[in-house]
Amino acid sequence: MLFEKILMTLLILATLAAFASRSRDLLGYLQLGKDEDRKPRDWGRKFKDQLVVVFGQRKLLQWSIPGIMHFFIFWGFVILFTTIIEAFGAVYQEGFHLPLIGRWGPLGALQDFFVIAVLASIAVAFIIRKIQRPGRFRGSHVKEADYILVAITGIMITILFTRGAEISLGHFPYDTRWTPASDATAALFEGFSLATREALDTVFLWWHSLIILAFLVYITYSKHLHIITAGFNVLFTSERPKGALKPMYIDIEQMSEDDQFGAGKITDLTWKQILDGMTCTECGRCQSQCPAWNTGKPLSPKLLIMDERDALFEHGPALLKAKRSGEEAFQQLVGQLEPLNPAVVEDEVIWDCTTCGACVQACPVNIEHIDHIMDMRRNLVMGESRFPKEMQPALQNLENTGNPWGQPPQARLEWMKGTAKQEELKIPHISEAPNAEVLFWVGCAGAFDDRNKKVVYDFAKLMQIAGVSFAVLGADEACNGDPARRMGAEYVYQMLAEQNIQLLKEHKVKKIVTTCPHCFNTLFNEYPQFGGTFEVVHHTEYLAELVDKGRLRPKGEIQKKVTYHDPCYNARHNDLWKGAREVIEAIPGTEYEELHRHGHTTFCCGAGGGRMWMEERMGKKMNMERTDEALASASETLAVGCPFCNIMLADGVTERHADSQMQVRDVAQLLLQSIEFHPESSVARNGNGTEGYPATQETDQMTGQAIGPDDPQTTE
Ligand code: SF4
Ligand code: SF4
Repeated sequence: MLFEKILMTLLILATLAAFASRSRDLLGYLQLGKDEDRKPRDWGRKFKDQLVVVFGQRKLLQWSIPGIMHFFIFWGFVILFTTIIEAFGAVYQEGFHLPLIGRWGPLGALQDFFVIAVLASIAVAFIIRKIQRPGRFRGSHVKEADYILVAITGIMITILFTRGAEISLGHFPYDTRWTPASDATAALFEGFSLATREALDTVFLWWHSLIILAFLVYITYSKHLHIITAGFNVLFTSERPKGALKPMYIDIEQMSEDDQFGAGKITDLTWKQILDGMTCTECGRCQSQCPAWNTGKPLSPKLLIMDERDALFEHGPALLKAKRSGEEAFQQLVGQLEPLNPAVVEDEVIWDCTTCGACVQACPVNIEHIDHIMDMRRNLVMGESRFPKEMQPALQNLENTGNPWGQPPQARLEWMKGTAKQEELKIPHISEAPNAEVLFWVGCAGAFDDRNKKVVYDFAKLMQIAGVSFAVLGADEACNGDPARRMGAEYVYQMLAEQNIQLLKEHKVKKIVTTCPHCFNTLFNEYPQFGGTFEVVHHTEYLAELVDKGRLRPKGEIQKKVTYHDPCYNARHNDLWKGAREVIEAIPGTEYEELHRHGHTTFCCGAGGGRMWMEERMGKKMNMERTDEALASASETLAVGCPFCNIMLADGVTERHADSQMQVRDVAQLLLQSIEFHPESSVARNGNGTEGYPATQETDQMTGQAIGPDDPQTTE
C-alpha cells in the first residue's frame, strides 16, 4: 500500500536524522579530548586484532559460557543484517529478496540457525543476569541491558514470525528445506484465512521494523554504543608494548607551575580515552579481575571508566555548544568544570591501582584503564602535589639518592659480601669487563633489601658456575625509575631513565639480565621511548636457557612440593611464565603444582604501581589474599621471580604464622640449592661434550683470576 510505503519512508528518514544528529554530537565529544597519536602503523597487527578480537571474539571467549553467548549474538547481528534488509524491502515490494544471494538456500539456513542461536544466547544471558547475578555487574546500568535483551528477543521473534507468515503466503524467497525453524513457525499460521495471514504478516513486519528503528537510535544513548565503537577502539589500541606506559616528555629545564600534566578535568582526557568510555559494555570483566576491587577497595576499573563517561555525557552538550560559539566561551566553561579528582573519580580509587594489567587483559573491547589512571596520577602528583603522604620519602629518596630506600650509592655493592657463612663474590664493574657477555642489572631491591640481597647473590653465583662472563654497574646503577613513573612523578622517572640510558650507552651495553620484572619491563619496554634500546632478559628465562644448554645441571634432589607465583610484570605484561616453570621442573625431586590463579591470570602481590611505598588502608591486604591462596595449596615452597613479590609474600606467610609450613624462595635460590646439594651438578658441559667450564670463559676482571670450579668464589 502506498500509505505504508510513505509512512515507512518517513520513519526511516526520521530515524536516520536522529541517528546522524546523535553521531555528530558523539564525534564532537571525541574532539573535546586532548590529541593523542594513535595513527595505526602496524597494519598487520591491526588486521590481526580485527580478525581475532572483533570477529573472533577471542577476549570474550576467555570466559567460555558468556563468551559463546556473546559470540552468537555478535555473529547473529552480522548474519541477520540480511534479514533486516529483507524486512524493509518487503514493505516496499511483496516477495522482496536480496539481489544475487537472496534465494540461496545456505543463506536462509544460516539466518534460521542464528535466529535460534541468538534466542538461546539471550536465554543464557537472562539466566546469568537474573538468576546467577555475578558481582561483576554491580554498578552497571542493569536496566539498559534488560531493555536491549528484550529488544533483541523481539527482533528475533518477529523475524521468525515474519518468515513463517511469508512461507504460509508463498512469498518466502528460500527453499523451506533449508529453513526448518521458519518452516515450523509457518505451521502456526495454517488454520488462518488468507486475509488473516496477510494481516499478521504485515503486523509482524511492522513490529520488526519499528523495533529495529528504535534500537538504532537507542544504542547511541546507551552502553550498547559499543556495537558501533568497539571495532574502532580495537583499531586504535596502543601499539606500545603491553607493559609500557604512555610516553610523556617533560622539558625539566622549562617546567613551570602553569604546565598541565596528565588529566585534571574531563577535557584533559585524550580522544582515545573518551572513545574508551563510549565503548565500555559494562560487562564488569575488568572489575572481576581487579585485585583492588577483589580485596574490598573502592577501585573498580569498570566504574572508573563509567564515571568518566557519565561526566562527559553530562557536561558534553554544554561544552559542545560553547565550543561551537567560540574558543573563549569554551575555555571559560572548561575553567568552571569540576576537577576529575575527586569530583568524578575519588583520589583513593586512583591510588589503589597496582598497574597489574588484569583489567586491560580482561576487557573484551581493549579499553586501556591504566592510561586513564596514570594520567590522573600524573596530574595529582605533578599538577596538584596531592598524593598519599607515605609516598613522599620514597620520591625524595629517588630524587636525592637514586633509589627509593635512600641508601648511598656505595651500598649497592654490599650484597656481594653474602652472609656470614658465604664468601664474598668478586664481580667486575662493566668498565673493567667491557666484553662481558651480559650486564647484571641488580636493581634497588636486590641491592638494599636483605631478603633480595640473598637472591642476587645466588643468581650471580649461578652465573659464575655456568661460566657466564658478566659485570655490574655497581655504585653507578640508579633505580630504573619504575616506582617514580608509576607513582605519577614522570619528571623523576625521566631524570633516572636518561641518566641510566646514558650510562648504558657509554659502556656499550647490549645485553642485560635482571632478577626484577619491573627493571626488566622498564629497561626493555620503556627505555626505547627515550632512545635506549637493549636486549633485556629476566633471570628466570636466562636460567632456563642455561639449564637447557647444559651450562647449569641441577642434580641435587629437593624433595618438596613447589608452586610458583607469577609476577604481573612478567606474566601479564610480558607473557613470560615458561622459564620459571622449566627451571623448577628441572630440579630433581620437586613436585610442581599450579596455583589456581597462574600464568596470565595471576593475582597481584600488591606491590606494583608504586604501591610498595604506599599504605594499604582499606579491605584485605592483597599480599594476604595471595598468601592465603598459596597456603591453601599442598606446596611447601612458594617460588617467586620478583623481589617485590618475594617481600610481600614472605611478609604474608610470616603474618599468618606459617613459616614452618611454607618457605618463599626465588627460583634462582632453589636452583642453586639443587646444584650445591650435588657437587657434580655444578660442572657445566662444554660445547664439545666434555665436562668442565667453557673454553671461552673470561677471567674475573677485578681479580685477574679465572672463574671456574676451582675458584673458591664459585664453589663451596
Ligand atoms: S591495573 Fe590491576 S589494580 Fe589497576 S585497575 Fe587494573 S586490575 Fe585493578
Ligand atoms: S572496561 Fe572493558 S571489561 Fe570493564 S566493564 Fe567496560 S567493557 Fe567490560
